[in-house]
Order: sequence, then structure tokens, then C-alpha cells
Amino acid sequence: MSDYIINAVAEYGEIRAIAASSKETVETARKLHDLSPVVTAALGRLMTAAAMMSTDLKGKDDIITLQIRSLGPIQGMVVTSDSTARVKGYAFNPQVDIPPRATGKLDVGGAVGEGYLSVIRDIGLREPYVGRVQLQSGEIGDDLTYYFAASEQTPSSVGLGVLVDSSGVKEAGGFIIQVMPGASEETIDKLEKKILSIPYVTQMLEDGMSPEDILQLILGDFGLKILDKRPMEFYCNCTRERVEKALISIGAEELDKIIADGEGAELNCHFCSKKYDFTHDEIVALRKLAVQK
Ligand SMILES: [Zn+2]
Repeated sequence: MSDYIINAVAEYGEIRAIAASSKETVETARKLHDLSPVVTAALGRLMTAAAMMSTDLKGKDDIITLQIRSLGPIQGMVVTSDSTARVKGYAFNPQVDIPPRATGKLDVGGAVGEGYLSVIRDIGLREPYVGRVQLQSGEIGDDLTYYFAASEQTPSSVGLGVLVDSSGVKEAGGFIIQVMPGASEETIDKLEKKILSIPYVTQMLEDGMSPEDILQLILGDFGLKILDKRPMEFYCNCTRERVEKALISIGAEELDKIIADGEGAELNCHFCSKKYDFTHDEIVALRKLAVQK
């Protein structure tokens, strides 16, 4: 198993923890979308978070989507994970190149900028459950910590890290630690102090720490109990049929324009950049299925 996620509890269930190792997943996204280093870090953090949050999904067709719309040069990102931590995602502007911060670290917050984070849980109800918060720093981890507190009333600590240079992703991973309802004040105080004392995720990843090591470092004094381990991977479920449906849905008028060009159309899947070519004749056939808008 290359990338994986572990679920754990501590302090007799007062604390819940998830941690992930996501290097292959993030590297796949980097290659498919030709991402710059800072976008690799931003999208990689968001994908890692979505995969960890997907371990909450109960139904096999459930999906979680994390969406950012922002004013920084990235402009936005969309990431989704199914209930088996098969995750995919893309950035609106994959090639952002901005100077690193004074510390030498990639400036993810600067690339993302101000904006909003939406968390959409599609769990088979008529309407999906949507929570939306303002971005706090654009660094993703902080923003999700704020989301859990503001939108789900769950005190949490989210740490996400991607180490990347021009040759590729070196390490990627993260953790989510949450305090469950009914946890004692003593547990909360002790946990807060502990979390303030730990190194940055990127440092832990650079030191070669696994998800198990990271949770052991944070929760070793809290009676950490690992419950399960599951694989995580980049996976896109796009098909030619889905792309055809998307084409039909743009409406007869738009399709007529493509037909007038006489050159067919090339469509790319947003999530995995896969190319789908349609000849002029195929567009003409799809046009018959489209409605006049
Ligand atoms: Zn795709």
C-alpha cells in the first residue's frame, strides 16, 4: 500500500484522529495537470484533507467535495473524494508561480488569497449538505480548522503538508484531530498544549514520519488506539458517456456554433485532464439530442 489513511481514537473516545500519507496521490495530480510547485502544495493539501474527511462517509455512493473560490492567482480549486478515499481534483490556474515566503516555504496562502471554502457532503439526500466559511489564511489547514469549529461545532486541529520541488513531490500527508462532544476540560487543555508543542507537518514529513508516527507523537500520551487503515489514491471516474452528456447539456445553440466551425471538438476532463475528441459528425449526432434553450 503506498498512500493510506488511518483512523484512530484516544482518551477513551474523547479524541478522534485521522492521518494520511498522500505522496503518490499528490504526485499523480501534479503530473496530470502539470502543476507548479505552489499549486501542487495547495491542491495536494486540499486533496489530502478531502480523503481524510471521506472516512466519515457511510454510504458507498456518498461523495465529499471541498471547493475554494478565491481572489489570489490560483482563483479556485475543486476536490472530491468518494467513500473509499478515491480522490480527484483540479486548480483553476495550475501554473501559478509566486515567490516563496521569507522563510523559504511555498506561499500557499498568497497563491490562494482571500475567499471562501465550501464543504459539500452528497450523502444520498435530495439536497447535499453544504457548509461554507470565509478563508482564514488560505493555507488550507487553518481554513479547515476554522470550518470545523464554525460550521460543525467540532473543535479540531488540522495539519497538512506537501513537500515539492521542480522534480516532483517528495512527501505529502496530514492529520485531523478532533475533540468529541462530552470531552473533559482536562483533556481539551492537555491536547491544546500538546498540539502547540509539535513541529509543522512538513517538518514531520521531512523527518520521515509515517501517519502512525505522527499520531503517536501527538496522542501517545492519550492512549492512542488505531482503528483501521485504508488505501487512498488519485482516481477519476470520467467516461466518454459522461462527457457526451455534458456536451449535450450545453444546449443546441452552442452545439450549432461548434458544428458551424466544422472541426469537431476536443474536451478535457477538469479532474484528470483526459482528452476526449469528438468529430464533426459526432457533434452533429449529439446535437439531435440537445434541447433548444
Ligand atoms: Zn477525468
